[in-house]
Amino acid sequence: MQPRKGLLFSALIAFMAAMPADAQWLSHSESIMGTRVSVELWHANSAERATDCAGRVFREMRRIDKLMSPFRPDSELSTVNRDAAIQPVPVSPELYELIRRSLEFSRLSGGAFDISFASIGYRYDYRRGIRPDAASIASAIDNIDYRQIRLEGGRIRFGRPGMRIDLGGIAKGYAVDRSIELLRDCGIEHALVSAGGDSRLLGDRNGRPWMIGIRHPRREGEVALRLPLENSAISTSGDYERFFVSNGERVHHIINPRTGKSAAGSWSSTVIGPDATTTDALSTALFVLGPERGLKLIDQLDGLDAIIIDATGQIHYSSGLMAADPSSG
Ligand code: ADP
Ligand code: MG
Repeated sequence: MQPRKGLLFSALIAFMAAMPADAQWLSHSESIMGTRVSVELWHANSAERATDCAGRVFREMRRIDKLMSPFRPDSELSTVNRDAAIQPVPVSPELYELIRRSLEFSRLSGGAFDISFASIGYRYDYRRGIRPDAASIASAIDNIDYRQIRLEGGRIRFGRPGMRIDLGGIAKGYAVDRSIELLRDCGIEHALVSAGGDSRLLGDRNGRPWMIGIRHPRREGEVALRLPLENSAISTSGDYERFFVSNGERVHHIINPRTGKSAAGSWSSTVIGPDATTTDALSTALFVLGPERGLKLIDQLDGLDAIIIDATGQIHYSSGLMAADPSSG
């Protein structure tokens, strides 16, 4: 009996050495970029180091907000909006690159995603229930045109006076991607970072996939469906985030660049893909395109899937998700 007991004891000691006492999940959230930013991560040994890694994420989010916020008069983005119609404005390589990527998503979506939506978008105030009238939309609609945003060797220039840009449809996804890179560099292998409707997962949730819920667009607090995901990004755009109702019409924050008005046809659109910059931009684009054109676009692209809940509440899936569903035959 004695030697056996000894064996069991040493096996237990070996197990405890491999599984440090303070291995655990750490989660934290703060309000940044006008939304809830949250980080959940698994650390295998040092709680102190994990707290430091999470701290880096929040500092990074605040840095990006300072650079790209349209509400801060001293942000680089505000400088562009003030001067780019008068002369080319030199910007940081980071802002330049994100504007360049935004223009790629505009071309890809046939103009459904267009950061110059802000030329009219800034006239909406969802909190105060204010929207531009038909005459002011008509006089500014030509200023929504991504082809008039010119990239000139590190400088940005607008082709028309009165143009404005806003990165609200892509900057949160970008910030989530930067955060995941930081965590990876920090030695973290399992994490979830989300900023409002944009999330990205590093690894799995310790042997199991992360379960990510898509909000029900009309039933507050309810989840419409849940998806098991790992090592990927997911973004949802919905007409319930910022809106008011006027004469029975829902006026919300996703603008159809062709009309200068809130895009109709969907309640929400969700895109799943490799990185959150892509899923953020494309979820906004798909919302504008609607189920038919939106899913056609996604089905042409590698590594991307989508779920659109249309304006009758019907759920539409991209063909990649249909193939994965055994009940779809
Ligand atoms: P959120 O997570 O804030 O709901 P979304 O990804 O749904 O963000 O995008 C909505 C935001 O995108 C709006 O608040 C606005 O800043 C911006 N936006 C609205 N319409 C467009 C458009 N057609 N193209 C690009 N960006 C847009
Ligand atoms: Mg988006």
